[in-house]
Amino acid sequence: MRFPAEPFRIKVVEPLRRVSREERERLIREAGLNIFAVPADSIYVDLLTDSGTSAMSDRQWAAIMMGDESYAGSRNFYHFEAAVRDIFGYKHVIPTHQGRVAENLLFSTVLKAGDIVPNNIHFDTTRANVQHQGAEALDLVIDEGHDPTSLHPFKGNLDPAKLDALLTVERARVPLVMLTVTNNSGGGQPVSLANARAVHDVCKHHKVPLFFDACRFAENAYFIQQRESGCANKSIREIAQEMFALGDGCTMSAKKDGLVNIGGFLALNDSEWSQRITNLLILIEGFPTYGGLAGRDLEAIAQGLQEVLSEDYLAFRIGQVAHLGERLSDGGVPIVKPVGGHAVYIDAKRFLPGIPQSEFPGQALVVALYLEYGIRAVEVGSLMFAQKDEKTGAMVYPKLELVRLAVPRRVYTTEHMRYVADSVIELYNNREKLRGLRLTYEAPVLRHFTARLEAIAASPAGAAR
Ligand SMILES: *Cc1c(COP(=O)(O)O)cnc(C)c1O
Repeated sequence: MRFPAEPFRIKVVEPLRRVSREERERLIREAGLNIFAVPADSIYVDLLTDSGTSAMSDRQWAAIMMGDESYAGSRNFYHFEAAVRDIFGYKHVIPTHQGRVAENLLFSTVLKAGDIVPNNIHFDTTRANVQHQGAEALDLVIDEGHDPTSLHPFKGNLDPAKLDALLTVERARVPLVMLTVTNNSGGGQPVSLANARAVHDVCKHHKVPLFFDACRFAENAYFIQQRESGCANKSIREIAQEMFALGDGCTMSAKKDGLVNIGGFLALNDSEWSQRITNLLILIEGFPTYGGLAGRDLEAIAQGLQEVLSEDYLAFRIGQVAHLGERLSDGGVPIVKPVGGHAVYIDAKRFLPGIPQSEFPGQALVVALYLEYGIRAVEVGSLMFAQKDEKTGAMVYPKLELVRLAVPRRVYTTEHMRYVADSVIELYNNREKLRGLRLTYEAPVLRHFTARLEAIAASPAGAAR
């Protein structure tokens, strides 16, 4: 497959430390085989997340120098507000320091215990913030969205029939509907414009506000331009504007498609909600013209929102991730298809069929990738999601056992990606050497962040030596 080469050249470099295998072996052992506890400067290619890890452009760094740190009415806020309004079109623009604060402000204001918030699939922080209000976070993605082998071009779509059925019975308990573009928890899969329109129509019929979780809106718009009929001649800006015109507001983590290292916002049309949210913002985050950010951060977001709309940038970005997926697939490595916008997901169940989910095959793969190649990936499987059934005491394992290779924006070159692909393929060809793991420590909630594990010794009769 051909894909566009880097549409930028390199002006500033950050040296990477090459660490010996012995040192990596010591570091991962000291980390209790938990990749979150390994020092980042001992990693060669870090694919832990695409959040807050983007490289800023020369223009963004110049924007940083134009910071106006006035407590109120900073000129950077007005630039930021204009950039957000241009793309999203909503009346009130409220800066926050991360996406989850935008979620918290919105849900604290409009939800009450017993409410329901439908979404295609809630992202972790969105789900947690809904549940924090005593409300229920409901996933209504189309059935294909749960099937790792389905090649549906818009696997992030929300099922309008499921939504209509819910609202017909439970309208009183649903203060808003959310739609996540792209659908992060479903593998970074896009939502079509036709689907957003269908969801809008159902919401309008039942008179329920529609909010977008807009973190990867530009990547989503690029997929629409490439895949949806009638959209090939529309610009990314036009597609985004058309999509957001179907909603009443959005939450945003600028750490994704804002191309910055910190920042976010909430934008909405409802003036009464906005006023209540602003009062809460002042209490917990800051004055309405800075949120939790410095003036310079707002200027960098304003610039990042322009740059992320570039088709050259998006063709490279989406192409780089797709290309990594294709290389792995050609090498025989089982991955989730189609490849999403920001990450490639390895199917650890098929990669390591000899290791049962109770022995964390995904984490075993993550540990080996670091130990042998200095690559950091993240497990999205039994370590993250397995839970004890309250009634029976039996462990319930997630359907999917995945390892995510998330690609930071504008950070790694095509050669880095080749190194990753070659390494994963080599590991795949030596997969019979990998062994399962067992937990030696786990926290009561979100255990994957702090868990400690050890390798299970090979049985004398086993193939592993
Ligand atoms: C990252 C993310 C968030 C939360 O944003 P933070 O800036 O990390 O707080 C919410 N929704 C989606 C889809 C995300 O990817």
